[in-house]
Amino acid sequence: MSQNLLDKELYNAGFTLTKPRKIVTKKILELSSNHLDGDLCCESEGIDHSHTFGSEELVSSAPDIGRATIFRILRNLSDIGSLCKIETDGGAVYTRSTSSRHHHHLFCVKCGCVTDRHFPAFEKIMKNISSTEDWNLISHQLVVYMECLNCTKK
Ligand SMILES: [Zn+2]
Ligand SMILES: [Zn+2]
Ligand SMILES: [Zn+2]
Repeated sequence: MSQNLLDKELYNAGFTLTKPRKIVTKKILELSSNHLDGDLCCESEGIDHSHTFGSEELVSSAPDIGRATIFRILRNLSDIGSLCKIETDGGAVYTRSTSSRHHHHLFCVKCGCVTDRHFPAFEKIMKNISSTEDWNLISHQLVVYMECLNCTKK
């Protein structure tokens, strides 16, 4: 994956490509394309597939850059839709977003891989809820916790 992808998305969203930003986006691309054991992440499953990383992992991989700066960049990238934040038992993790449209995630509890998915049937259920509830529905999230193809094969 090319380093410039996240940089380009930041730039297009109006951010200046400072040196810390460039270092952090490079680290993010490394972390999100590699398994912890260094293997490329399930390449055969296609490009809609990305590895997750924790914010602490990112902080320790870029020791020259301040914590606050790293967290700010993570928030910027989430805001512009380049990263998705996923809640897990072990805390929130981040992953590359492959779709700028509203989507949901399949998350592998074993290796931490993520795939973006669209669930039209689920959206219909959400619409039903929204029309039957008195509350004002703002948004929704769905993470499906699974074991990926690679992990079930092992
Ligand atoms: Zn996503
Ligand atoms: Zn897996
Ligand atoms: Zn949805």
